[in-house]
Amino acid sequence: MADTIFGKIVRREIPADIVYEDDAVLAFRDLNPQAPVHVLFIPKRPIATLDAAGPNDAALLGQLLLAAAAYARQQGFAEQGYRCVINTNRDSGQTVYHLHVHLLAGRAMHWPPG
Ligand code: C5P
Repeated sequence: MADTIFGKIVRREIPADIVYEDDAVLAFRDLNPQAPVHVLFIPKRPIATLDAAGPNDAALLGQLLLAAAAYARQQGFAEQGYRCVINTNRDSGQTVYHLHVHLLAGRAMHWPPG
């Protein structure tokens, strides 16, 4: 897959406000937050979209979601509630083709989403 701005963040070629890191996952604050808490969880090994993921990515996708859930718990907003979003391809509004989980919290969310 093509390199993206998130690949540059993983390699520390451009700065980001990193809030969590482990062997497989990096999390940083979204530059254009849509909620009081807006953190992006990305796999260090890039996958372009959820649609491009396969069985070999199952463990990595699990790690990504569990890292987001653990962060929400640690930061104390799990009980209040939060939303995880994975935009996938054009109609979803995906703009960066390096799979990422948006973790949004700190305000009541609307449904259906826009
Ligand atoms: O799901 P989507 O691809 O639209 O999300 C990309 C997100 O990456 C946006 O919310 C955008 O604000 C964020 N972004 C960022 N830092 C960058 C480039 C994009 O936080 N350098």
